[in-house]
Amino acid sequence: MLSTPIVQDIKAAITEVAIIGAGSAGCLLANLLDKAGTNCLLIEKSRGMGGRCSRRHISTDKTKSYAIDLGGADISPEKVTNLILKDILDYWYTSGYICQWKKKVSRFNHLHEDSKAVTTLCGAPSMNTLHSNIASHINILTQSRVCKLERADGNWHLFDDKGDIVAISKKLVVTAPPEQTRALLKTVDALSNISLPDTLPHESLPQYVCAIGFDQPLAMDADVYQGGHLSLHKSIRERSKPDRTYPSHLADIWVLHSTYEWAQEQRHSDSNAAAAKLTDAFCKHFGIEAKPMLLTSHYWRMAKYKTTTHPPCQFVWNEQHEIGFSGDWLGGGGTVGALTSAVELHQAMLGSAQTIVR
Ligand SMILES: Cc1cc2nc3c(=O)[nH]c(=O)nc-3n(C[C@H](O)[C@H](O)[C@H](O)COP(=O)(O)OP(=O)(O)OC[C@H]3O[C@@H](n4cnc5c(N)ncnc54)[C@H](O)[C@@H]3O)c2cc1C
Repeated sequence: MLSTPIVQDIKAAITEVAIIGAGSAGCLLANLLDKAGTNCLLIEKSRGMGGRCSRRHISTDKTKSYAIDLGGADISPEKVTNLILKDILDYWYTSGYICQWKKKVSRFNHLHEDSKAVTTLCGAPSMNTLHSNIASHINILTQSRVCKLERADGNWHLFDDKGDIVAISKKLVVTAPPEQTRALLKTVDALSNISLPDTLPHESLPQYVCAIGFDQPLAMDADVYQGGHLSLHKSIRERSKPDRTYPSHLADIWVLHSTYEWAQEQRHSDSNAAAAKLTDAFCKHFGIEAKPMLLTSHYWRMAKYKTTTHPPCQFVWNEQHEIGFSGDWLGGGGTVGALTSAVELHQAMLGSAQTIVR
């Protein structure tokens, strides 16, 4: 009961910047704006933060549960070229927001070659702990899907599917995947003439994901296998990640990501049926005889943007209408692309704010 007036207050106030989407780009942008003293509001259609870096809780009994990463599993520091983002990652690391994930990596089709030692960064005990660490102090409306945008009286008015107002803001940033962003833009009055360059991505590719558990550890050379299989894009030994706790009866847990092509062929399948096929492919490929338990499965309708031949543009900022766009599909892909896009958009917004002050 107590939360209702607070939510209504947030809705009634005019926010400086509304950010649609609390994934990697949205949370980092909110964090940077907040640090610079800008009042902002995150609006997220799901139940929490993380976006495509989400995890699923699996209950073992009424009191205990454990979490498994179902999407983006890590941040690859070697892909970071933006110096501000490098500093941010260093700060997150020293603050304990992210830790090192040391693993052995191999390809599905290089089973008899040595695996490579690779270190990346990830949130612990789940990937989206990072998002909570950087953005839990920011005002957020969860389970709120923005369905319509209107520009009126120099402000952005955001509406839900019933036509009720979700928020009013001076500036707006959309961090949704390309098709959702373009669909939202189409709801804006045509006279405003706001559009995205046609050369930027338009659509995304699907992906099936499942987690399977074994009561004995598997004798595998690597913790991550990626590339060289028709239906499996990546397989991750979940127990190789830092600071995870799992029930004792699960001696080994593997998360299987399908290839995008295979997911397109299977796209009408139920996620459990697709999980059974992926599990079968995994066990056959490695000659595993033990029978795994299916722990969870998920179908990502928009897992990864469909690349175009044009180079990424990092972000879009329309100063006239004070609307911006950020996300992995603008920043070059993956968690690093999403974070880079947020940092670059923040720089552009700071620049325009300084212009207004002058
Ligand atoms: C299975 C899988 C495996 C992956 N593996 C890797 C990997 O190994 N390495 C890597 O770097 N990346 C990986 N990725 C990609 C990585 O997760 C994404 O690139 C990154 O998380 C994208 O962040 P984002 O902020 O751009 O978008 P998102 O995380 O998608 O955030 C956008 C948010 O906007 C919300 N939203 C959308 N529309 C609305 C609306 N109308 N109203 C309110 N909210 C809305 C969504 O719910 C979402 O939370 C993987 C992704 C998947 C799915």
